[in-house]
Amino acid sequence: MSVVVLSGGVGGARFVSGLVDATASRDVTVVGNVGDDVEVLGLHVSPDLDSIMYALAGLNDEERGWGRAGETWRVLESVGALGGDTWFKLGDLDLGVHLVRTQALHDGEPLSHITARLGRSLGLETRLLPATDDRLRTWLLTAAGELPFQEWFVARGHRDEVDAVRFEGAEVATAAPGVLEAIATADLLLLAPSNPYVSIGPILAVRAIREALASRTVPCVAVSPLIGGRAVKGPADRMLARLDGGTSPAHVARRYEGLIDAIVVDEADASDLTGLGRVRPIVTSTLMVDGDARRHLAEAALGAVPA
Ligand code: GDP
Ligand code: CA
Repeated sequence: MSVVVLSGGVGGARFVSGLVDATASRDVTVVGNVGDDVEVLGLHVSPDLDSIMYALAGLNDEERGWGRAGETWRVLESVGALGGDTWFKLGDLDLGVHLVRTQALHDGEPLSHITARLGRSLGLETRLLPATDDRLRTWLLTAAGELPFQEWFVARGHRDEVDAVRFEGAEVATAAPGVLEAIATADLLLLAPSNPYVSIGPILAVRAIREALASRTVPCVAVSPLIGGRAVKGPADRMLARLDGGTSPAHVARRYEGLIDAIVVDEADASDLTGLGRVRPIVTSTLMVDGDARRHLAEAALGAVPA
């Protein structure tokens, strides 16, 4: 069975690692968000692609929840001592990836090609594709003005309430090589339990990807990032309440209207399954506390199609 999963960073990466555990890793294609990509200290950082890559390579820091295990921060300390930007936390090991990626981009190599190369170097068996090789950037409209994603999320700790989300470059962005082919030949499509607005949203903003999902001939299953109407981490619940009027499974499903056939929701949300229409609820425990829980959640989503 071949599976395509659309994924953001940390929440998505946790789910994706459960998915490769539950299937043969070679059957999974991950399409990652690039709306969070940012240029810091002259380097091109792709935080969501890297979160997925590190998780799949077993290099991620489980405790901190992001970045690499065994990380050190000497370069950033030096940058700080010199009065440089330190608001975006780049560890020494992590910087190696950004250096290689930035040089390759500078030399004209497409992001998808670099991502595949980095993945090979780290021993990944799962295919990881950026949604697009084109420049696509997420902006948030807030009372403090329109903010670039990382300024809103990291520098300001996503404290500003969001009135609108915009994806710069999305109108002209084309799907990265392999994305549409993977979707067209998949047996199952999955939306990871990532932020629907700022993680899955930028992927679906690439018109060809949205259209490929809308015209699918196989099931598409979303996994809700909410438990008991609350985000496990981050602003997804606040955004749903403010932008869509609620945090029930139906509110999450509405973000993916016409694109999904089922939604995996937590037992804590099972009391209000109204308004889902033709979207079938799959109720289970969705908190990914450890490897077993990640695998369990993946199996619940995979259960949407007979093995
Ligand atoms: P980011 O790009 O690093 O912000 O990560 P994602 O957008 O991929 O994931 C963030 C989302 O993951 C948040 O909305 C969380 O609620 C969700 N999330 C994190 N851990 C879990 C979990 O264990 N279970 C579920 N259902 N959602 C989770
Ligand atoms: Ca992200």
